[in-house]
Amino acid sequence: MKTIDDFNFEDKKALIRVDFNVPLNENLEVTDLTRIEAAKPTIVKILEDGGSAVLMSHLGRPSGPEEKFSLKNIVDAASDVIGVQVKFVGDCVGEEVQQAVADLQNGEVLLLENLRFHKEEKAGDKDFATELAKNGDIYVNDAFGSAHRAHASTAIIADFFPDKKCFGYLLSKEIESLQKVLGSSEKPVTAILGGSKVSSKITVIENILDKIDHLIIGGGMSFTFVKAMGGQIGNSICEDDKQDLALEILKQAEEKGVKVHLPVDVVCADSFSNDANTQVVDIKAIPDGWEGLDAGPKTNVGFSFVIAQSKTILWNGPVGVFEMPKFAKGTIEIGNAVADATAEGAFSLVGGGDSVAAVKQFGFADKVSYVSTGGGAMLEMLEGKTLPGIAAIMS
Ligand code: AMP
Repeated sequence: MKTIDDFNFEDKKALIRVDFNVPLNENLEVTDLTRIEAAKPTIVKILEDGGSAVLMSHLGRPSGPEEKFSLKNIVDAASDVIGVQVKFVGDCVGEEVQQAVADLQNGEVLLLENLRFHKEEKAGDKDFATELAKNGDIYVNDAFGSAHRAHASTAIIADFFPDKKCFGYLLSKEIESLQKVLGSSEKPVTAILGGSKVSSKITVIENILDKIDHLIIGGGMSFTFVKAMGGQIGNSICEDDKQDLALEILKQAEEKGVKVHLPVDVVCADSFSNDANTQVVDIKAIPDGWEGLDAGPKTNVGFSFVIAQSKTILWNGPVGVFEMPKFAKGTIEIGNAVADATAEGAFSLVGGGDSVAAVKQFGFADKVSYVSTGGGAMLEMLEGKTLPGIAAIMS
């Protein structure tokens, strides 16, 4: 795996695919700098080597050039974060761009206009990639959030840099973290899967069963398992057509020696609301008219006990409707347990969707080993898929 540490960028122009798809408010100001901050170490290394950085990214889902999706809107924020006045050019291909790249001096940063102003970007168009490739000497991919897309700037372009392509720090850290969890991990390895639907996690479960010792299943998806095993789940969320599959997963887990932990009790509510009446009941005996919205106290103790024994932890998906304070306790307890295990030396990776929002919201982001930046990309890696953006650098 080639990373930017394998190159010296002195007098070189690095063409970096970053993920600056940041949220903007109605005044077109950046409201969350996380993605820009995440790209900073890569840019700084290149500048410190004595090179220059040409940044390319998408922003939003424009159907063509649109002012509100212009990357010009983020120049000030990017300059503040990177600590260098970022230059900007109003396109990502063409003569004007090539001139701006040619004029770029060592130590300078140039941001190109939104790649998705050209439909050829998402189409993975080879001619467009040829034009993009003219904008640098070495291609660096640091956009994990887009690594599962075979777009011109994330994958196709790499062909034009046969010996001069590498991963930036962010993308290499994502790959390393996942390899730590699913590769030669320190045992016991525990995966915590929550969220609303079994159907969206099936491929993940099938892929990780060979690599884990414990599987904690919580949140909305647990009710499909409980019902399949004969429990009464009241009005709880359930995918009836996935019950056979749930039983099949339990059978596979047993055959592979994976211990599955399901909730034993649940906080249920008489409506899907923070103002609902609640009661704690056995997970297999939820009264009609009530729905399970958070893990119960016995479940929290049990899950925390398993997590405390673990040396490697993967967490994907909340174990309750954490967006409502009344049903956030289970997810907070998981966060506490993962943070404690990490403090005791375990490696913990949180990734793929809402669990990332949860760890940030409840202040656990600094207490786990790694928080993935790419929802869809991380899920596809957990499913065992080869991501085009990663394959293009590896080949
Ligand atoms: P996912 O995108 O599949 O990871 O699901 C995340 C969503 O699952 C969050 O918005 C949670 O509110 C939701 N969720 C977790 N537990 C439950 C539950 N018991 N009932 C309904 N939704 C849930």
